[in-house]
Amino acid sequence: MKIHLLSSEMASRIAAGEVVERPASVVKELIENSLDAGATEISVEIERSGTALIRVSDNGEGMAAEDLALAVERHATSKITGDEDLFRIATLGFRGEALPSIGSVSRMEIASRLANASCGHRLRLEGGKKEEIIEAAASFGTTVEIREIFFNTPARRKFLKSPGTELSHICDVVNRMALAHPAVHFRLQHDGRNVADYVAVKEARDRVRQVLGHDVAQGLAPFLWRRGELSASGFLSAAPTSFPNARYLYTFVNRRYVRDKVLTHAVLQGYDTLLMKGQYPAVVLLLAVPFADVDVNVHPAKYEVRFRRQADVHQAVATAVRQALQRQAKGPLPQFQDFAQAAFAGVRESAAPWAGFTAQHQDVPTGRVEAFPIPPQAAVLPVGEGFFSSMNVLGQILGCYLVCASSQGLSLIDQHAAHERVAFEKLRRDLNNGIAQTQNLLIPQTLELGAGEVALMEKHLPLLERFGYLIESVGPESYAITAVPAFLPEGDYRHALRRMIAELAEVDDSDKVRQHLEERLATIACHSVIRANRQLEMSEMRALLRALDQTQFATQCPHGRPVLLGFSRDELDRMFKRIV
Ligand code: ADP
Ligand code: MG
Repeated sequence: MKIHLLSSEMASRIAAGEVVERPASVVKELIENSLDAGATEISVEIERSGTALIRVSDNGEGMAAEDLALAVERHATSKITGDEDLFRIATLGFRGEALPSIGSVSRMEIASRLANASCGHRLRLEGGKKEEIIEAAASFGTTVEIREIFFNTPARRKFLKSPGTELSHICDVVNRMALAHPAVHFRLQHDGRNVADYVAVKEARDRVRQVLGHDVAQGLAPFLWRRGELSASGFLSAAPTSFPNARYLYTFVNRRYVRDKVLTHAVLQGYDTLLMKGQYPAVVLLLAVPFADVDVNVHPAKYEVRFRRQADVHQAVATAVRQALQRQAKGPLPQFQDFAQAAFAGVRESAAPWAGFTAQHQDVPTGRVEAFPIPPQAAVLPVGEGFFSSMNVLGQILGCYLVCASSQGLSLIDQHAAHERVAFEKLRRDLNNGIAQTQNLLIPQTLELGAGEVALMEKHLPLLERFGYLIESVGPESYAITAVPAFLPEGDYRHALRRMIAELAEVDDSDKVRQHLEERLATIACHSVIRANRQLEMSEMRALLRALDQTQFATQCPHGRPVLLGFSRDELDRMFKRIV
C-alpha cells in the first residue's frame, strides 16, 4: 500500500499554507474578521515583526461561548449558508478557514464578549488542539492573540524574510484595510512603539492623507465615475508624478483590496502616454460592483476576483481615470496624445544614432527601452575619445536640445538625457569608491511618510546614507532631509527620495539584489537632475560635452533614451532628395 490518509492535523497544516503565508496574512485575516463583526476600532499589536506575537483586538459584535468553540472549526462560518449566498458575498470572509488555519500553525488565544453580556469567554489552542473554553474577563468585542507563528512548521518559518520586510508587509496590510475603511480607527504597534494610528475620519481624502502621508496625498485628485450599479471612484496622481513600481497603486473591489490584472491594466490604460514605460501612478481606486457580479471565491487569500462583466469593468475604470486626468489637465487630452504618438512614430525611423555611418549599427534598437539595463550596443557606437568636445556647438533650441556640428554631420543632444547620464556615472563611480559626496541643505526639507514607508526608511537609512542622503527623524512619521547627494541640483528632493523608498520595498537585502538596487536607485536619483527646460550658457554646454567625453555609455541616458542623434551627410542628402 502506498496511499494513506493524512492525519487531520497534517491536513490542516497543509491547508493552512494556502491562507497563512507569513505574519502579514494573519493580520489580514484577523482584521477582516473584525471588520465583518462591525468593529469601529481595531488595534493590531505585534512583537518581533509578528513572529513572536500578533494581537488584534476589536470592538465588534463579539462571540458567545458556543460560537467561540465553532469559530475555530474548519469550514465554520456565520457569513454564508446556501449556494445563493456564495454568489453574492457581502462580507470580507466566508470560507470559514482563517481561524482554524492560523490556529493549526501557532499558539492561539481568543477572548470575546458579546455587547451587553456580563462576562466574556476565552479559548486557547495549541497547534490546533483546543483547550476548554472558560469564562474570563474581557472587554466588549474580540481579541485574538497569536504567539510563535509556525512554531510547529519550521520549514515555513525558514521562508520568512528579514524582520524589516515582514514588518513592512504588515504595514501594507493595515494600510490597505485602512484606506478602504476610513470610518474605522486603526492602530498598529510594533514592539510597543506606535507605527500607525489612523483615527476615524469622515472623508476618504483624510484617510488617504493619514496613510500615504501628506506629500503624496497632496498630489492626488479625487475622481468619481458612475453608470448604473457600477461606480469607480477614488484618488489619482496627475502626470508627471510617477513611481518605478505599483507600490502606490491600490485597487479595491467592494472595499476588498485586490491585485487584479484587469484593474491595473485599465488604470494604466487610462494614463496611456502620460506615463513613461515602466512607470506607475499613485492611485487609490475603489470599485463598487453588485455583489452578484463579482466572484471573490477564486483565490484562498481572496486577493483575486473574477468579474462577470469584465469588459464593462475595464472600460469603466479606464474611462474614470482618463476623464479625471483630462479634467486635471483642463484640456482635451486625446489630441495631445495623438500628437505625441505621431511625433514619436516620426522619430522612430531615424532614431538610431548615426545609423547611416556604418552598416553594423543598423540594428541598434531605438525608441523607449526598458527601464534600467544599459544597452550594451551603446558602447560600440563610433563615438571616439574626445568626440563630444570636438564638436562645434551651434546653440540651444527649445530650451532642451543642443545643436552641434561635427566633421561627420549634424548632431542633436538632449541636454536632460546627457545630464542624467553624466550624473549617473558619477554617482556609480562614487558608490564604488565608498561613499557619495554630499551637500548640506541650508533649509532641511521635511518629508511626511506613511507607516509602511517609515519602516522601510528606518531599515534602509544606512543605504540611503551611502548615497549621500542624511535624514533625521523629527516626529513619528516625519523626517527632515538635511543633506543630499552633491550632484543633485537645487530643488525639491522629496520626490526622488520617495521613489527610492518605493524601490526599496521591492527587494530584500541580500548582497546580490543590493547591487542591482544601487543601480536602480542611482537611476532614480539622476532622473531628478535638471528637469525643467533651462537656457544654458555656452560655457555650460561646453562643460557638458566635456563631461560626456569622460562618461561611459555616453550616448544613452540611464533610462535608455538616446542622448545623441546624428545626421550624417548621407542622411541629409537623402532627406533633401539629393540622392535616393
Ligand atoms: P470566515 O471569516 O470565513 O467566516 P473565520 O475562520 O475567519 O471564517 O472565522 C470564523 C467565524 O468566527 C466567523 O464567521 C465569525 O462568525 C467568527 N469570528 C471570527 N472573528 C471574529 C471577530 N473578531 N468578531 C466576531 N466574530 C468573529
Ligand atoms: Mg475570516
